Amino acid sequence: MRMEIVGAGQWRESEERYQHLVHMLPDGLIVLSEGHIVFANFAFLSMIGVNKQEEIIAQPIHKFVHSDYLEQFSTNIRYLIREANPSNFIYFKLIRLDQETVEVELRAVAVKFDGKPAVQLIIHDISNQKRMEASLNEKDYLYKSLMESVVAGVFVVQNYNIVYTNPYLAEMFGYKEEELLSLSPIDLMAEEEIIKIRNEVMNGRVIGRDQFPLKFKGVKKNGCIIYLEGNSSIIMFNGLPSLLGTVQDVTFKQEKEKTLRDSAKLYQKMIKFVPEPIMLSDQGIILYVNKLAMQVFGIAEDIQIIGRSVFEFIHPNDHDSLMETMESIMSSDEPTPFQERVIIRSDGQYLDVELSCIRINNYLGKDVMLTVIRDLTDRKQSEELLIRSEKLSAIGQLAAGVAHEIRNPLTALKGFTQLLSAKYPEQPHYFTIMANEIDRISLIVNEFMTLAKPHFSKFHNEPLEPILQSVISILETQAILLNVELKVCYDHTRPSVYCNVDQLKQVFLNIIKNALEAMPQGGEVVLTVTTMEDGYVHIRIKDGGPGIPEELIKRIGEPFVTTKEKGTGLGIMISTRIIEAHKGTLQLSSVINEGTVVEIKLPIQEQQQEESLG
Ligand code: ADP
Ligand code: MG
Repeated sequence: MRMEIVGAGQWRESEERYQHLVHMLPDGLIVLSEGHIVFANFAFLSMIGVNKQEEIIAQPIHKFVHSDYLEQFSTNIRYLIREANPSNFIYFKLIRLDQETVEVELRAVAVKFDGKPAVQLIIHDISNQKRMEASLNEKDYLYKSLMESVVAGVFVVQNYNIVYTNPYLAEMFGYKEEELLSLSPIDLMAEEEIIKIRNEVMNGRVIGRDQFPLKFKGVKKNGCIIYLEGNSSIIMFNGLPSLLGTVQDVTFKQEKEKTLRDSAKLYQKMIKFVPEPIMLSDQGIILYVNKLAMQVFGIAEDIQIIGRSVFEFIHPNDHDSLMETMESIMSSDEPTPFQERVIIRSDGQYLDVELSCIRINNYLGKDVMLTVIRDLTDRKQSEELLIRSEKLSAIGQLAAGVAHEIRNPLTALKGFTQLLSAKYPEQPHYFTIMANEIDRISLIVNEFMTLAKPHFSKFHNEPLEPILQSVISILETQAILLNVELKVCYDHTRPSVYCNVDQLKQVFLNIIKNALEAMPQGGEVVLTVTTMEDGYVHIRIKDGGPGIPEELIKRIGEPFVTTKEKGTGLGIMISTRIIEAHKGTLQLSSVINEGTVVEIKLPIQEQQQEESLG
């Protein structure tokens, strides 16, 4: 085999010496003569996937050229044969014997082979390189598209020049991307910010921090100010330390926050001067109280209460219904009707109030609850006075006076009875009866006394039975005189109620008295006490009187409606009020000529609640 490079010197050295070199070349080398392979080195053989030279020698080269490149390949080769200089690199694809494609780059040069004009091709396999390039491009593309689609402004600053910006940042500032690239970050900042930012950057680097938050006022192309917030870090970009930053336009947020703050202030200003105690709360946490509300809670400064739970200031008995109110106002635009509640003031005292709540939208961006408070102290006191005056007329102021007069002689009687019993031990029976009767008189007298005494809402958990019993003992004598039998039936439960004992006594006194008064010819009054599963105790007072005519029963409970010569017409009204104050109900039903039933329902105080109430 002899080869000659046309015009480029001779290749006449010993064949053996070169054969080795040619075969060891990392690139493929072939010689073509009239379009057929006349020589191929090992690198080419392996490139094409054959083992022996013989398998491809004398084969037409087009067998191994990808059809897409065939035409271009032949043109190039034909052209080369006429040229003296080696070609530039030509890219094309080879088809291996196993039909796989190999991407290659070749350089060709015209040579003489066995005296004939031939072409020598150096073929460099670039598949690997291509694959790498492709993946690099893909990554590049991926990152680039990520940057372009980030919904935040992204920039890189090097030596006070913007060297990268994504479209979002450009749009934020109202520039085109290329315009931004010719600017310095200083052009984008409000003047007062420049020094601040520069210091931050410097400090960040000095103390070795390579990440720090950004917060600054920017200037748009049109001169408008925008508020920006974001993060930045020092990176190496194109071999130089640079500042990579991401920012968000928070102008809207800033403005919104300001409007919200303004509207909150406006609310507060309005509420401050409303001549009613008002409180704002968010999910039970107190946000604001006006002056009058502070007085209600018994505090001097609002900081004593702001941030605390409403529930701390409301009686535990009212917690459930307050929760319900809080839930219901969130789904309604209407204020709740005024509801009676007990407030626990800062000094621990209870205060009767009425509350009405409404939802306020968008107070500092939230839906909050506005509560109007009405102090019921005055009203309660006048009610109390009314109750007392009625009470005094019912029992008789005289009786109260008389009771007082009776007490002292009774003490004397009791003492002498004891003395006598010691003196006449042979007759103990009589003395026991006398002592018992004196005890009974003093009990009744004491009851008169307590009823006549003024008192203001003292609520406690009390067993119901002794309350009823004491009323019965007062009325028993009257019953006997009228020939009425007073029957009392308790069920096995012994319920307690959260009540004002004196007021409850007064209710039962009124109702049982009415029953007795309805039966001047005698008969039976039955009092039954039943604990129901609904958590209420039912107290029925049934008489065998004439009943109440239908047209009258509607009006009973209105003040001064009475059919009695010496009646006040206040008993039922006041009793109803008292029962309602105990969160119970009072109902009258009557059948003419059969009798009347008064049914009172009161919530039972659970043992557990009792404890929590202390
Ligand atoms: P007063 O007893 O002073 O008349 P109340 O408010 O207690 O006032 O009762 C109002 C009226 O209701 C009575 O005057 C009476 O006509 C009627 N009433 C109340 N209870 C009964 C009853 N058990 N049977 C018949 N009538 C009754
Ligand atoms: Mg009465």
